[in-house]
Amino acid sequence: MLKEPESMDECAFFTRRILDDNTKLVAWVPTGTNIVNIKYACGNCKKSGEITQEFQKPITFICQNCGCKIVVEPLNKRRGRRKKKSK
Ligand SMILES: [Zn+2]
Repeated sequence: MLKEPESMDECAFFTRRILDDNTKLVAWVPTGTNIVNIKYACGNCKKSGEITQEFQKPITFICQNCGCKIVVEPLNKRRGRRKKKSK
């Protein structure tokens, strides 16, 4: 069972996301490594799982249960989001 980092000091990269297909995931790269740990709940089959693999951007992995490909698009590439300025 993967343990989520307790502080940002332990990881070079950390993201917590809900993707457009409703896949929920947490991914992080422990400091000094080139691997990414991913904990996810697949939006397709609703099963959750854990994966450790080589870190590449964008993070892409295959659901171990249903085999669907999940791509974690970088946040800064997302467009078309309605954003209201609150005052
Ligand atoms: Zn799946």
